[in-house]
Amino acid sequence: MGSKALQKFLNDNLNDLKSKGLYNEINVLESGNGPIIKVKGKELINLSSNNYLGLANNAKMIEESIKATNKYGVGAGAVRTINGTLKIHEELEKRLAEFKHTEASIAFQSGFNCNAGAIQAVMNKKDAILSDELNHASIIDGCKLSGAKIIRYKHNDMQDLKVKAKEARESGLYEKLMVISDGVFSMDGDVVNLPGLVEAAEEFDLISYIDDAHGSGVMGKGVGTVKHFGLSHKVDFQMGTLSKAMGVVGGYVAGTQDLIDWLKVRARPFLFSTSLTPASCGAIIEALNIMTNSTHLVDKVWENGNYLKKGLKELGFNIGHSETPITPCIIGEEKLAQQFSKRLMEEGVYAKAIVFPTVPMGTGRVRNMPTAAHTKEMLDKALAIYEKVGKELGVIK
Ligand SMILES: *Cc1c(COP(=O)(O)O)cnc(C)c1O
Repeated sequence: MGSKALQKFLNDNLNDLKSKGLYNEINVLESGNGPIIKVKGKELINLSSNNYLGLANNAKMIEESIKATNKYGVGAGAVRTINGTLKIHEELEKRLAEFKHTEASIAFQSGFNCNAGAIQAVMNKKDAILSDELNHASIIDGCKLSGAKIIRYKHNDMQDLKVKAKEARESGLYEKLMVISDGVFSMDGDVVNLPGLVEAAEEFDLISYIDDAHGSGVMGKGVGTVKHFGLSHKVDFQMGTLSKAMGVVGGYVAGTQDLIDWLKVRARPFLFSTSLTPASCGAIIEALNIMTNSTHLVDKVWENGNYLKKGLKELGFNIGHSETPITPCIIGEEKLAQQFSKRLMEEGVYAKAIVFPTVPMGTGRVRNMPTAAHTKEMLDKALAIYEKVGKELGVIK
């Protein structure tokens, strides 16, 4: 029967989550993750993906992934450092570096893996990392793996960052200091104060690391948040994912040749986990072609984001302070947020509730992720459903 202690632990905790409305039921998609998805046989307007540019279902990318599979096979066969580096990995990294205007880049199997490997490759227990209090879980775990002292600063508060950086420097306790932040914060859609962060980095010699998972493909005409601020030459680690706007899977760091050379000998997921599939590489290279040839899709995701925000705001919803297409609809209480999401789904909109511990307690929300693939008709229909459910549940008048 296995361990009794484990059974008790699981029972107690699962029941606790369920009674508090914090247990997440996973919905299974019977279609691709496009603007319309099929769940339990029903078609729904999809406002929950990270497929910002609609590239996850792009026909040309599918074609290129098949070509790469035909040429190289379904798997890379080894970790990068043994003999799992195929010509297509090399090409991908060259293209990512060009895209980011850096000397070099390194690709990982996921964004999470990238943070788990890249931070600990340079930081260790003699060092300290200044980390925004709302940073993504993979950053937090990456920092923990490094063994460095983690010093949290107030969300996007550059004054607090400076105070803490000064304290850390003057304490004489640490060798290297790093500052790490999301470029775009995914739960609220706000953007890092990068000029402020870079100023602090220069003043206190901080290694700067920007995780631009939600900024790449969206900010800076698609190139990312660092480009948006014109600070490409001032940020040491430009980290991004290949799984969100790029529509595939994977993560990367773009930076100087020396930095990338070092990560390729020290980042543990690069050394000890099999490399990206040829199909993924082929599809991502095509995504880069699409994004460099035209800003059409980037323009479209912004247009749709602004349209949805305006509509929700006019209906009287609290949409927070997003500066990007990410549009939270803050409901408050966890159970109400989940009930709201459930009713939206019954009426034809898939917008997942996000509750504690992903966001602070009492700020339960339904988060909307409009993409370039949505039409005005879809967004209008979604807004009509929002109005109906909002009034029904007393969220709006
Ligand atoms: C989604 C996300 C990641 C993880 O990326 P994956 O490619 O999905 O593993 C890392 N950092 C941030 C800020 C993210 O939003």
